[in-house]
Amino acid sequence: MLIKDGIRVDGRKYDELRPIKIEAGVLHRAEGSCALEWGNNRVLAAVYGPREAIPRHTQHPLKAVVNARYNMVPFSVSDRKRPGPDRRSVEISKVTAEALSNVVFTEFFPRTSIDVSIEVLGAEAGTRCAGITAASVALADAGIPMRDLPVACAAGKVDGTIVLDLAGEEDCEGEADLPIAIAPRTGKILLMQMDGHLTFNEFEEALELALAGCKQVSKLQKEALLRRYHVTASTNESELTPKKEEVSA
Ligand code: ADP
Repeated sequence: MLIKDGIRVDGRKYDELRPIKIEAGVLHRAEGSCALEWGNNRVLAAVYGPREAIPRHTQHPLKAVVNARYNMVPFSVSDRKRPGPDRRSVEISKVTAEALSNVVFTEFFPRTSIDVSIEVLGAEAGTRCAGITAASVALADAGIPMRDLPVACAAGKVDGTIVLDLAGEEDCEGEADLPIAIAPRTGKILLMQMDGHLTFNEFEEALELALAGCKQVSKLQKEALLRRYHVTASTNESELTPKKEEVSA
């Protein structure tokens, strides 16, 4: 039994996220970076570029190519994971790159590549969502012009109940998992995958819940970026404008 009296195995309610911590600008060699903790997931994202795409045949004459590399380190899971890419990481890298490409103004940087590296240091379900969320903050930290700040979150079905943000046991034993990534300003869906089975009504309920989760995570992303630039969330424009005496001094 994974849900007892409305409470999940880790003590959360059906619509509660795991604790999330986001920090922008954690690596000095990368153009942009982000460290993210999401429950027991630990993810580091780094952005390099835009830089000339090499080898040259990978260049696009009219736009930048966004590459993403999702990698789980061997000690990120309970059984040591074999190092290097596997089918799963190739798939997650591909869907991540597609989600991010949709919001980056790639047309500003022809013939270049923007390389996003996502290292999963600790994994306990939902790492693709954590990776996209971290990559998005790292892109913003790198100053890459974007239409929106992508954010991701999953909902799923456990013990017949639709719940937000499945954790380890729920992901393994649950009936379905629906990770999504969105562009929060427009609500455009950048990624949607589904593992398991849901009825149409359950799917709609899970989507609604995942969207609500995305909204909460989006707020944390923005707060992390504001902290990075030492601006408090309450700062208004007049506080950012230097006072007359400061200008004359
Ligand atoms: P996501 O992490 O996005 O939920 P999956 O549903 O494929 O992606 O994986 C669920 C969880 O299964 C991962 O977060 C991780 O905890 C675990 N997992 C994935 N790959 C492995 C692996 N090779 N060895 C052990 N555990 C793994």
